[in-house]
Formats: sequence, C-alpha cells, structure tokens
Amino acid sequence: MSGNDAASRAKIQVWWDMNDCPIPEGYDARRVRQSIESAFNDFGRVSITAYGDQKQTPCHVLRGLSSTGIAVAHTRSESTRSVMYRDMVEWRGQNPPPASIMIISDQVEGDLSWDLARLQQRTSYYLYLAYSNKPCHDSFLNLYENWHWEELLEEGRGAPLVAAGGLSSSAAMFYCKSCNFDCQSLKTFRKHLSSYKHGVEEAIKPPDTLLCVTKTWARNYPATPEHATAKIHVLWNMKDCPIPEGYDARRVRPSIERALKELGYTGPVSITAFGNQKQTPDHHLLALSSTGVVFAHTLPWVLHSRMLTNFEEWAEDNPPPASIMIISDGLASRKSHSSLICSRLQESNYNCFLAYSVRPFEMPALLTSAEWLWDSLLAVSETKRHILHKCSSGSEMVVASTGMFFCDLCDCHCKSLDDFNKHLLSKEHTHEDNIMNTHFQSFIHRQRQFKISKYHDEVGYPPKTKRMRKAPQTEGFSPKTRDVV
Ligand SMILES: [Zn+2]
Ligand SMILES: [Zn+2]
Repeated sequence: MSGNDAASRAKIQVWWDMNDCPIPEGYDARRVRQSIESAFNDFGRVSITAYGDQKQTPCHVLRGLSSTGIAVAHTRSESTRSVMYRDMVEWRGQNPPPASIMIISDQVEGDLSWDLARLQQRTSYYLYLAYSNKPCHDSFLNLYENWHWEELLEEGRGAPLVAAGGLSSSAAMFYCKSCNFDCQSLKTFRKHLSSYKHGVEEAIKPPDTLLCVTKTWARNYPATPEHATAKIHVLWNMKDCPIPEGYDARRVRPSIERALKELGYTGPVSITAFGNQKQTPDHHLLALSSTGVVFAHTLPWVLHSRMLTNFEEWAEDNPPPASIMIISDGLASRKSHSSLICSRLQESNYNCFLAYSVRPFEMPALLTSAEWLWDSLLAVSETKRHILHKCSSGSEMVVASTGMFFCDLCDCHCKSLDDFNKHLLSKEHTHEDNIMNTHFQSFIHRQRQFKISKYHDEVGYPPKTKRMRKAPQTEGFSPKTRDVV
C-alpha cells in the first residue's frame, strides 16, 4: 500500500508555455527534461507537455524535446494560456491527488490564479510554478515552489545527457490543439501544421478564452459525509454584520445552526463575536452569552487580523475535517486579508462558509460550501421559533469555551459580564487601549505623510526653486495659458 502511495504522490505533470519561457539561445533542448527532473530532486515520474506556436519552433528543438519524451502541443499564441489551463483542469479530473502539478508560464497571475486557488481548496495538489519575467504575486495561491525558469534550466546544463528510457511508445507525442489532431511522428506533425486543413481551421476558429471553472460552481451544496458531523467554528465580525435594531440576540445562534442544519451540517458550533465590545449593549452581551457565544473585544483596525489569529489557533486544535464560518464583509472581498484562510484551505480539508451584509462585487477567492446574506441568515429562526428554545438553553450544540468574554488586546479571559465590564474599565485595559490607539493614529499620520510626499514627487513640488528655473519648459503647465486657449 505504502509503495503505491509513494508512487502516486510522485506523479508530476508539467504544463509549459514555450512562448513565455523559451529555451535560451544555444541551450540543448534535450536537457530540458533532466533540468526539470533535477529541480524535483528526481523523486518522481515527470510528464511534460510543451505548448506554443510550434510552426515557429525549429525542427531540431522539436526533435530534441520529443526524443526525451516531452509531448509537444501546437496552440495559437493567444490561446496558449487558456488551452494549457483547460488541459490542466481536465487532467485534475482524471488524476486524483496525491500528485504534483507544475505550470511554467508568466501568465498565472489574475483570473487563472484565482480559479486555481479555488480548485486547490476543493482538491489539493502539490503546486509548483516557474516563470521567466513575471512571477505570480497573488498571495491567495499557495505554492510549493516558485522557480525562475532560466535558473531551473541551469540545473541540468552540466549533467551528461541521458537518453529517454522507458518512454511509453503508444502515447501520442504531438498534438495540434486547434484541430484536435495528434500523431507520433514529427514529420506527420509538421506536415499537418503546414496543411490547408489546419490553416483553414485556425482561420475560422476564434481564439480560446480562459474558462474559470469554479465560477459556475454552486454556492450552497449539501454536506459531504465527512463534514456533516464535524465541528464548525464561527468568526463573527459584529462591526460589519451587527445585530439589527429590535432583533432578539438570543436568536443569532439558533439561526446560524438552523441554516447549517438545512444543508446537512449538524456538528457542534462554536461562535466567537469580534468587535469593540464597549459599544455592544449589555443586553446583547447577556443574551448572546446565554447561548454560548464567546466575545472577543478588539479595536476596528486589528479586528480582521485578530479573527485570522483566532482561526489559526482554532485550526491547530481542530484538525480537518472541520468547518469554518466567516461572518464579515471585509474578509469576503477578493482583495482582502483572507489569503491566510485561503492558504489554509488549500493545505487541508476544511470547509468554509461565508455570510456578509452585502454580497461582494467580485466572487471571493475563498471557496465556500455555502453563503448567506446576514439579514436572511438571521431570519432563518424567525419562521421556526420552536428552535429558539431547543438550541439556546444549555443545548449540547454549545461548545465549552475557555472564556465567554475575552479581551483580545490584553489577552484576558472573563467568566462573567460583570468581570468583563470591570476589565474594560480597568487601568490595565485603558493602558493597552491607549497604546493601540496611539500606534494606529501615528500609522495614519505616517501614511498621510507618505502620500503627500508621493504627490509632491509627481507634481515636482516644492515649485519655488525648481519650477522658477525651468519656467520655459513648463509653460503648458500653467493653468492660465490653457484657460485662455
Ligand atoms: Zn491543426
Ligand atoms: Zn483589555
């Protein structure tokens, strides 16, 4: 068994854009395979497909690549990225993990990395990238390694050339992606690329566009058996998603539990509410804590980072399968601090739920099993009032907590609302509060100064010395002249 496991983990599939990451002048194409293999420390069976406009690739390069078992795929340059990605998605469908995938391209950033990060949250592979000019900076995509293409090729430069051994002779080695044509001989391939039929096909077919497969995935789907009874931890940003005026706070927990139950999630639910709890009315604090909601007092500018820290701590004690629910507008947005959660979801089998007060303009990079609008989530228990009694008073769904009231600034746990209020008024707490406030104020000030000086650089301020001297060149800059014209 373990032998099989090791073998399947060692499966490595490589998609290589030859246009973005070409073979350098004078480099022997036969060395490409061994360079890639040595980057992987020769730990597995590597399958490589080289994509690009192969009409432009010299014959000796194509021969060199195919002689070492590298498959060659012809695509039109403008379609290479999308065809490579489509092939990768198809391969994932047929090759369940564990396995490694590698993309050699400068165009991973943006839509592709967003979709790939979401795919990886569902089904995780070891992911490797190589680039020549533009590394992928999207922090939500979890990478095992990110190599520089030419440095990677250098790895194999010194080694003696090894003839391709044990290559599967039945596999087609040359593909034309424009015509769905494949063959095993270079001669036939080149003949095809210069044929009338191929020319017409490319002339009439529009170029492929990148298809983000996760865009059409359902938002709310039923629980898988492994997640159905697993623990659920809820991180609730009370600032983004407050309790509406007149709403009975005791109904928050039953609403969340009921909404999850409707999708088949019945595991124990722990809820931590983050916010400036000095501003939360006592009756809300009492009502929520009576249903087992834990409070974390924190200030607005560190609220998200505290939520993330809480998630990290919880994840350490609660290995997957388990679920995380985020109630927040900030963490739901695509360009948010949610990279850390995204990254954790790509590493391990956690489920993620999202609730927000406003549906995000762009789909988040977080892959969710269900999403709700905060108001409609709260309304779930309204029509099912009986649930309130069942869940709110000492239900087994309430997870034992280390402290019902928690000051995240001072790291202080309180067992009762009285103690919590006392703490929030204490000297010790006020001191921490002041430090945080001062730090933030000075941060805003520094940021403002930075923006001002950047603006000054742009417009060439201060003008007195510089502009006076350069007066003849900056005529066009004078608003008066322009106004007159
Ligand atoms: Zn063709
Ligand atoms: Zn405190």
